[in-house]
Amino acid sequence: MKTFIQTTLISFFALMALSAVAQDDAALLKKAKKIHEKAFTLDTHADTPMLLSRGGFDITKDNDARATNSKVDYPRMKRGGLDAIFFAVYLGQGPRTPEAHEAAKKRALGIFDAINTTLKSTSELAELATTPDDAYRIGKTGKRVIFLGVENGYAMGHDLSMLQKFYDLGTRYMTLCHSSNNDICDSSTDHKGAEYQGLSPLGEQVVKEMNRLGMIIDVSHISDSTFYDVIRLSKVPIVATHSGARAICNHPRNLTDDMLKALAKNGGVIQLNLLSDYIKTIPPSPEREAAMKVLYEKYNIKDRRGMMTLPEAEQQKARAEFTELNKKYPIQLATVKDAIDHIDHIVKLIGIDHVGMGADFDGGGALADCFDVSQYDNMTVELVRRGYSKKDIEKIWSGNFFRVMKAVDKGKTRELSLK
Ligand SMILES: [Zn+2]
Repeated sequence: MKTFIQTTLISFFALMALSAVAQDDAALLKKAKKIHEKAFTLDTHADTPMLLSRGGFDITKDNDARATNSKVDYPRMKRGGLDAIFFAVYLGQGPRTPEAHEAAKKRALGIFDAINTTLKSTSELAELATTPDDAYRIGKTGKRVIFLGVENGYAMGHDLSMLQKFYDLGTRYMTLCHSSNNDICDSSTDHKGAEYQGLSPLGEQVVKEMNRLGMIIDVSHISDSTFYDVIRLSKVPIVATHSGARAICNHPRNLTDDMLKALAKNGGVIQLNLLSDYIKTIPPSPEREAAMKVLYEKYNIKDRRGMMTLPEAEQQKARAEFTELNKKYPIQLATVKDAIDHIDHIVKLIGIDHVGMGADFDGGGALADCFDVSQYDNMTVELVRRGYSKKDIEKIWSGNFFRVMKAVDKGKTRELSLK
């Protein structure tokens, strides 16, 4: 049995230890805040333009992430300490007929229009950038910096001249495909499997033309064999704008260690996706699974995507029921700690110069403690906690990506004719 004095002493030392931890934590938070504020912070992939084209969304308001199902707006960017973001002109994969390709081109241009209209009407709060220098200049004015990328080469159809058009509209990267194969290459997630075992003949021309223009090639979404084709063919560094490490989370959207090594050799960079399923595999609860099954059976659909095929009125009813289900059986999300595990792995494998941030907000990106852009500073806190230096963190937040951006621009060979 412990004496009174022993017990008191134990309590005293426990309290001392606790307050030391609290002090350490306060010092760490202070340090992280300073680093985060000073660093130029860039996210390379957000699908926010989908909300802009849909209408009814105000990017100048501080929107509630859960109520509006939106993860990015100017006030929240500011709150999360995010200076710059790439907005993706995203096209889902549709039919691969000449008519559908024409329609895809038009749709893509329509999204550019919606973005330009927004940027014009909010010019006091944000501005389009096409170079790192632009970004620093705009950042200094206190405005948010908007870059543009195209997600899914489907947007150009078979028309290589569209790439020049996209570039002239401000586009600085293009993701070659999305969740399914297209006429450019094989996707990492097409359930039908590979068609070309990599790039198609059109895809090879696309890579050459993007090199010529000085447009970054985005290897997120493409299959492993397409990745190796691109890396062989590209004369300049490439980028995965929103992907993770497959060794940490086994998903085809993530890059294997061998791919990461090849990426480092190429001088490229991987920008970490914060989509929970690509960060950590968390098995869904049996209760949630059962409730989902009942809902799908009721509406005679196979999965959540099936909801989109329902008539409008039914779709609304199904969506409302799904929202209720989500409240009752919330999805368990991965955390910032899990996300930084990817960065740790990548840095250990290929060094600090090849990793950055590309959360995929408004395209599925969301962690429990980085649910939207307003919580982005939590990433820096965890990086500081794990011993990353100010210099390392600045590289992760934009230095590495901007290095690639400059290299790709420098490598452009526009005077050469396309062969
Ligand atoms: Zn994507």
